[in-house]
Amino acid sequence: MAAEKPKKRHRYIRWLIQILFLGLFIYLFIQTTYSTAGRIQTLFFRFDPLIFIILSIAYRAVLTAGLLSIIMILGSFVFGRFFCGFICPLGTMIDICDLTIKKRISLHLRLKNTKFLLLIFLFISALLGGSFVHFFDPLVILERSFTLIIHPVATYLLGLFTMTANYQYTETFIVLAIFLIILGTGFIEPRFWCRNLCPLGALFGVISKFSVFKFSFPEKCRACNICERICPTNAIKSELKKIDSAECIDCLRCLYECPDNAIKYKVDFRTTPFDIKKRTLLVSLGAGIVAVPLTRSLLHKKLNGRLIRPPGSLPEKDFLNLCLHCGKCMKVCPTNGLQPCILEAGINGIWTPKLVPRIGGCEKNCNMCGSVCPTGAIRRLSSEEKTFVKIGTAVIDKNRCIAWEQDKVCLICDEACPYNAISSLNETIHNKTLLRPFVDERLCTGCGLCESRCPIEGPAAIRVFSIGEERKRSGTYITEEKIRLRACQEKKEDIPSGFITE
Ligand code: SF4
Repeated sequence: MAAEKPKKRHRYIRWLIQILFLGLFIYLFIQTTYSTAGRIQTLFFRFDPLIFIILSIAYRAVLTAGLLSIIMILGSFVFGRFFCGFICPLGTMIDICDLTIKKRISLHLRLKNTKFLLLIFLFISALLGGSFVHFFDPLVILERSFTLIIHPVATYLLGLFTMTANYQYTETFIVLAIFLIILGTGFIEPRFWCRNLCPLGALFGVISKFSVFKFSFPEKCRACNICERICPTNAIKSELKKIDSAECIDCLRCLYECPDNAIKYKVDFRTTPFDIKKRTLLVSLGAGIVAVPLTRSLLHKKLNGRLIRPPGSLPEKDFLNLCLHCGKCMKVCPTNGLQPCILEAGINGIWTPKLVPRIGGCEKNCNMCGSVCPTGAIRRLSSEEKTFVKIGTAVIDKNRCIAWEQDKVCLICDEACPYNAISSLNETIHNKTLLRPFVDERLCTGCGLCESRCPIEGPAAIRVFSIGEERKRSGTYITEEKIRLRACQEKKEDIPSGFITE
């Protein structure tokens, strides 16, 4: 009986650590708001070596924000896949779901090498200039699911009792489906995602082949097979007395459930080779090579200039390589105007942020999307510099505008514009003087507040297009010309005409 207590303690300590990390993830997620957002909310991503390596390769520059992830790499060289067993919040959620599953469907799938092939695919496509890490990284999948699924539900429920604004996102069905499938695959085998598909687990698995500490069998094992049956990742072959360190997630179950205390965690420099077939290896190499050009050309919907990126977004190619599709920018957007793309930016641009001005414009004093972006896909700009970024231009549709079409007085867009880029000017027609709105394209930043407030039913009579958008990898957006224009405008001095209507 004396040996039972420390065994149980191992079990509870691991659960406690897992719950603490899951709690931290949820806490940081809740704290990712317009008023509290900052770099700390990106903590988990900064410790993720898969994001760090793949994005650095695809972007052709070291992503300094991810340097902390080297700690995880070094930790795995010592302890193996401890991240999967103790830290990964998605792994913990899968464990919780697995606990509730009493009966499994036995399909006898042999997919454990798929995760290594996915890892190779990610490396090859990154070398060719395309990042697909956002589709497979567990932390990104979890963050995106929380943002696009759980956050709207939570704000809706809170809104029933408080004044909380209800956040809604368009077309999030696929995100929900992926999340449920990952949790539901526990019906096939425990930790199905971790043992078969997770490329971050595969990366830690490759490192763990060479880890200092490993689980191993000393001689006294009597091959009762208990460890093999309870191992959630099928890492143990008890008859051969082998534990595959690339599969082992340090869950400690074999350690506390072995009746003879036959399994030990100790310094062990032996490694076992990978058993990946050449043909499957070639398939993932080939997939990596064709994926980049294919996703650039396929399924690209032309939006007639309606793809409006948040202010400070990098040029489109860099943006698509660095954006994690995590949705943090959308969560902090105070107007809910940032929405996930579907296929507007190609298949690799799915779930990247776009401004939908009809839902909400870009507030003049808000620079939160750039502040919370974990990778710099949206540059971190000061509040002042952000006001100088042009993300598009508003265009008036004279056929829909009630001031133009019905000769009525409507100054709403003029009043909504924080940059004074819209002027209501007198026009004399048939001896009648009428007020009509005009947009000055040089002062208009494309913030879309006019479009969001236009009182017309259906599509607004003033709409923002990405005409004249500015996207820089580096350098300032503040120019002397822009300062001069704004100064003239504030002093109500005449500036050369720049009015446009459709
Ligand atoms: S732009 Fe940044 S914050 Fe927004 S989804 Fe992409 S990585 Fe996340």
